[in-house]
Amino acid sequence: MRKKVVAGNWKCNTTLQEGVELAKAVDAVVAEKGAEDVVVVMGTPFTHITSVVDAINTERIGVASQNCAAEAKGAFTGEVSAAMVKSTGAEYVILGHSERRDYYGETSEILNKKLALALENGLTPIFCCGEALAIREAGTQNDFVINQLKETIFQLSAEDFKKIVIAYEPIWAIGTGVTATSDQAQDMHAAIRAAVAEQFGQEIADGVSILYGGSCNPKNANDIFSKADVDGGLIGGASMKAEDFIQIINAY
Ligand code: PEP
Repeated sequence: MRKKVVAGNWKCNTTLQEGVELAKAVDAVVAEKGAEDVVVVMGTPFTHITSVVDAINTERIGVASQNCAAEAKGAFTGEVSAAMVKSTGAEYVILGHSERRDYYGETSEILNKKLALALENGLTPIFCCGEALAIREAGTQNDFVINQLKETIFQLSAEDFKKIVIAYEPIWAIGTGVTATSDQAQDMHAAIRAAVAEQFGQEIADGVSILYGGSCNPKNANDIFSKADVDGGLIGGASMKAEDFIQIINAY
């Protein structure tokens, strides 16, 4: 049975103090109400990880970084390596987010280096893929997204691939308030799972968690999460409001 995952991505938001308060608020409600059968993750800025890890019960909630360096260590000013992330107590790393691909030129080649380092250091990559609006309008979104996966996580060994969480995030839905319909999400998730089956076999395809991301909120989460191939969400804006994030977690 594959895991259901609801992961927040705070992006470049919150001061350390605000972030710790937010994390504590989410942790308190998860402690009280439980998040049965759902793996909850908070993707915080690098600077916040240690304090968030210390402020919450990491048995209940995992912490993710939103990136890691493509090099193991050395003279790369400003970079944060996968080993450094792991040493903070984070267990996950978000890789391949469209904002990293588009604003920071992260190619498949760069992402493959990051993936290898993340896995070597025992981090679970939450690997993002997704198409821009023009590709959706041209109707070629499935080929585009599957090609993104072929160039990256499909290059991994089956053993390593089993450690990956996939997040399908149509770029036109990220931070725009426009959500993919639950049927659009299901179509893409089913296509991704079929491609995984072709590459790694049905058992591995049945085990991989595929999250939806893009303007997911307490109102639409239930409908989107009800689809057979949607195994949770990667949540941006709504993960920074404790009540909204908790409602999304409880949408299962
Ligand atoms: C994201 O950036 O991963 C995301 C899904 O953002 P939002 O929920 O704000 O659209």
